Amino acid sequence: MTVRLKPGQTIGILGGGQLGRMMAVAAKHMGYRIAVLDPKPDCPCAQVADYHIEAAYDDLEAAEQLNKVSDVITYEFENVDLNVANMLEKTGKLPQGSLPLEVTQNRQKEKQIAVESGLNVPEYEIVQTFDQVETAIQTIGYPAIIKTITGGYDGKGQMKLKNEGGLSEVETFIAPDSTYIIEAFIPFEQEISVVFTRSQTGDITYFPIAENTHHNQILHQTQIPAAITEKVENQAKEAAKTLAEHLQVVGTFTVELFVKDDQVYVNEMAPRPHNSGHYTIEACNVSQFEQHIRAICGLPLLKIQSFPAAVMINILGKHQEELFAKLPQLHDFHLHDYGKEEARPARKMGHITMIGESLEEIFQRIEENQLPTW
Ligand code: ADP
Ligand code: MG
Repeated sequence: MTVRLKPGQTIGILGGGQLGRMMAVAAKHMGYRIAVLDPKPDCPCAQVADYHIEAAYDDLEAAEQLNKVSDVITYEFENVDLNVANMLEKTGKLPQGSLPLEVTQNRQKEKQIAVESGLNVPEYEIVQTFDQVETAIQTIGYPAIIKTITGGYDGKGQMKLKNEGGLSEVETFIAPDSTYIIEAFIPFEQEISVVFTRSQTGDITYFPIAENTHHNQILHQTQIPAAITEKVENQAKEAAKTLAEHLQVVGTFTVELFVKDDQVYVNEMAPRPHNSGHYTIEACNVSQFEQHIRAICGLPLLKIQSFPAAVMINILGKHQEELFAKLPQLHDFHLHDYGKEEARPARKMGHITMIGESLEEIFQRIEENQLPTW
């Protein structure tokens, strides 16, 4: 069944963060109305939405209210309550479905799907107790990384284990009755992501593959073009396509990959637009958000065209003041601020994007602008 919306109809968004806000802005220029469900008053998406249902993500009554005012519903983050997603899926208004949520909320299921799809993943074990960690590490070896199986994002709920000396820290990191995944740490040459969109009729469009740099496990910078071989590019797109079909993806979806020795390893997936796709707002004829809205509203996807090069840099709470002080002197870059009141040090507050003819030219502009380095 295809959901089709006419301009003027309402898109309901589960989650009111910056991704919801940027989806809403993209939807607005096509004339759609926006309803958002988020517990926080004045959250980034509520600032640009027509209706705000202020309630917890797992509040079934609130979800029912969202359902009533919306003609289609989408989610902007993967920790949306599965019961809510299942309930909305039954109404036929959730084209993304709940399967991609179920899989990406759980790092074990995510790895299993990748393995079933014949893709490389870092070697891993699932553990619950410290004894199991000690056993797992004997096969995985050092360095390794231990992550909570659910609820982690932006490096939260993770710990790197460099050597045996780190084991005592792991003992305090592990909470009783919780499940963790231990992965071999891949000494990757690059991190890349494939941001793509799949329509309700199964067409797929890929945005240019992004090359990502993380600081403290939080995305810091994305650039295109990614400096990868054609072989890696094809492998990455093929992996994305396989997963998209396996999960029957609808909308914008992202696969994060490590590149090592001309091979890709699936790291994680996001069933929604992604931070590493923000550059598409200015660098492409259609952004990851607009293409997502087109997919869930039953419109055909646009053929993607792109500027030759772009760089996106995240602004965290700890950077915001320094950057804002410099704004009047900065030229030729685009500013995005998400309207968040509290600038906690590692919180994503906004981003900047520079587009151009080549990465050399953009990096030169960054130098001329004397952008703060962080
Ligand atoms: P999050 O949900 O916090 O984004 P990720 O699993 O993507 O969690 O981890 C965040 C970052 O930590 C990755 O982008 C990568 O830089 C690093 N990382 C995570 N797992 C591994 C691994 N197995 N090998 C090497 N680096 C890793
Ligand atoms: Mg990640």
